Amino acid sequence: MPEYFFKPEEIAALPVIGSDKLYPVNRIFCVGRNYADHAKEMGAEVDRQRPFFFTKPATAIVHSGAAIDYPPGTENLHYEMELVVALAGPLFEANRNQVKAGIFGFTCGIDLTRRDLQAGLKEKKHPWDLAKAFENSAVVCAINRSVSINDIDDKIIELSQNGRLRQRARLGDMVWRIEELLEFLSRYYHLGAGDLVFTGTPAGVGAVVKGDTLTGSITSVGTIEVSFNT
Ligand code: MN
Repeated sequence: MPEYFFKPEEIAALPVIGSDKLYPVNRIFCVGRNYADHAKEMGAEVDRQRPFFFTKPATAIVHSGAAIDYPPGTENLHYEMELVVALAGPLFEANRNQVKAGIFGFTCGIDLTRRDLQAGLKEKKHPWDLAKAFENSAVVCAINRSVSINDIDDKIIELSQNGRLRQRARLGDMVWRIEELLEFLSRYYHLGAGDLVFTGTPAGVGAVVKGDTLTGSITSVGTIEVSFNT
């Protein structure tokens, strides 16, 4: 063991359904505009030439069931309910079949976004980090290993805010399929075990206020919940 100047942070790790072992998280990739209806509500269009990505640090992870503080620096925090792919890797310059073999499991995620800051950053063509890559901005639950990628299109993804349904779509509505997203990313990164990919959110995003509870689910994958302290 090397000697450090200070104790390193413990790495984020997710529970895995049916196992006592944890899945340690390395990187978090997130795709933007992957449901046409959501792109439209944001006043944007889906780029059908190539998907685009941003990242969050693993330190952004917060576990389902947590109560968190409303983050600083925003007056318009939005929820984005998403399917998350957990990789078993390695995937580099992978083809479709290799991609399928590189998947460890699936889970639910909520990509919390400082929408007001994001709007300003977009306008200036600046990076999105302040809007996306902050503490507690990646809510995730336990990884489910029993779902097949061949069987996800008809599954329903939904999110409710204080019991009121806000987002609901079929996973088959995704513009870029999971195989395509991973194939694309693997041209730019040596993807591997511990990497998570948030696959985009359907329409119906909206603002959170203090005291809110968000609950989400994806058929057969799992349920997720996070609440905001008053
Ligand atoms: Mn998102």
